[in-house]
Amino acid sequence: MLIQTDIVIIGSGFGGSLLSLLLNRLGFRCVLVDRASHPRFAIGESSTPAANLILRQLAWKYDLPRLAPLARFGTWQATYPHLTCGLKRGFSYFKHHRGEVFLPREDHANELLVAASSQDAVADTHWLRSDVDQFLVEDAQNAGAIYFDHTELSVDGRDPWLLTGQRWGETLQLEAGMLVDASGEAGFLRKHLRLEGREGELRTNSRSLFAHFHDVSSWHAWLSERGARVNDHPFCCDHAALHQVLDEGWMWQLRFQNGVTSVGIALDAARCPPYPGQTPLEEWKWWLGQYPSLKEPLEKAVVVRPSTGLHRTGRIQRWTSPAAGLDWVLLPNTAGFIDPLHSTGIAHTLSGVERLAGILAQHREGDSLHRALADYSDAIHHEIAFIDRLVSACYRSLHEFPLFVGAGMMYFAAATNYERRRRMEPGKPPSAFLGADDPEVLRAIAAVESSLDRALASDCLPHDLEQFQASLRDALNPLDHVGLFRAEIPHMHAHTALDDVVTQQAAGGT
Ligand SMILES: Cc1cc2nc3c(=O)[nH]c(=O)nc-3n(C[C@H](O)[C@H](O)[C@H](O)COP(=O)(O)OP(=O)(O)OC[C@H]3O[C@@H](n4cnc5c(N)ncnc54)[C@H](O)[C@@H]3O)c2cc1C
Repeated sequence: MLIQTDIVIIGSGFGGSLLSLLLNRLGFRCVLVDRASHPRFAIGESSTPAANLILRQLAWKYDLPRLAPLARFGTWQATYPHLTCGLKRGFSYFKHHRGEVFLPREDHANELLVAASSQDAVADTHWLRSDVDQFLVEDAQNAGAIYFDHTELSVDGRDPWLLTGQRWGETLQLEAGMLVDASGEAGFLRKHLRLEGREGELRTNSRSLFAHFHDVSSWHAWLSERGARVNDHPFCCDHAALHQVLDEGWMWQLRFQNGVTSVGIALDAARCPPYPGQTPLEEWKWWLGQYPSLKEPLEKAVVVRPSTGLHRTGRIQRWTSPAAGLDWVLLPNTAGFIDPLHSTGIAHTLSGVERLAGILAQHREGDSLHRALADYSDAIHHEIAFIDRLVSACYRSLHEFPLFVGAGMMYFAAATNYERRRRMEPGKPPSAFLGADDPEVLRAIAAVESSLDRALASDCLPHDLEQFQASLRDALNPLDHVGLFRAEIPHMHAHTALDDVVTQQAAGGT
């Protein structure tokens, strides 16, 4: 079978499927191809206010009303109760020290909670990717995209692209002017075009172990039983991207409504290479043994997905540059990935899909298309480098929680500043994700990095920490529109949600 089409998209994760939905609206003929089939396990589940803002704006701009309910917990539950998600009110962090039981403190010095929404109805979500990705690929098909699963393609020619694959014993041939690579970690075009890998230039070096589990007990309950002041928490710490901060990395826990919890450990790979001969499960148990307060809530937990059991990665970082050529484009997660910390992946993918659809809507061919794709490639390059800076600063600070919190504030300042700009000018999204090309943002981040370097180089004595915190406030002040340094209860950020800030401002508050 030979199909001539405008665009072939390799990979039907939510990125590829959503792009094909938008391109279909723009009048392009699209063929979407995946080597696997839905529903299938996928990692990368915790969304953010930026992700949901982009999703809502895409639903509105491209008249895709079925997308909009996915952008808020309340509308998701009401409209698609059969699609599994989890409630995410914000980010919660608890600092553990190796070999020690976590001791809740009156002053919350070893905790940090940052609200991303003011109530459950408008909260973010954790996406059960097997459900969400299947939903989107079906919507893409219903809208007219041709979809082939179980198909692995090879490249037979270019200009136009000639691609051949086998599906259930039949030969499939595709001819297209443009190829979009949404294959993520698999890096279809990186292999076929022998594109340069630049991971060697990245500062972050982490690896991970993860799975979906049943019977992960509540961390909120664990804290309550030990007399922690959970009433000071602006939201239940389980209804969040829960981070257990370790000395060598961190653990995430993302709870879904169906009793399943996504749990993973991300480790500083330079300091903690895998022990030769140790299986992923043995390593998992070993780490739990090092952190007694993590072991208890996970004591009865059973792996339910992936079917192959607990998954262990090598180094997670990847970076391919350039991210576009004359007749090909990589989606953000195919061009690169840094780390699950800060949950940037979904939002970054959505921002790339948004930008690419905008480019293809405006520039159908010729020089202007090539220039726009070169700008896309530059933007993705800056964004990956920027996320690397935000994440690596946190990894460097893992052992000293006040520094980790300060490094985390760089992300919250950049993210809330980006969300605010998007809300203020919904028709004109910022040119780079998180403001990665904005001189004011870059200046602020560089200033925090310098003071972090100084604090790390000293012995982190109280005086050094005070100096660090003062310079952090000064540096991030121009980006901070949500009161990151004005929490009524230290480390408990109740009013950092932009929906809350916008409501207060509309009512004449500060
Ligand atoms: C450990 C870990 C944790 C993460 N946690 C988060 C998080 O909490 N929040 C967040 O926002 N992001 C997170 N991410 C990032 C997130 O996973 C990605 O941003 C997201 O999956 C991107 O979606 P996508 O559709 O672009 O690609 P993918 O989900 O990677 O989909 C790629 C698709 O391509 C298909 N494919 C691969 N090769 C081929 C081929 N040769 N031919 C055809 N099809 C092919 C695959 O089968 C798959 O369906 C995490 C990533 C990792 C590694």
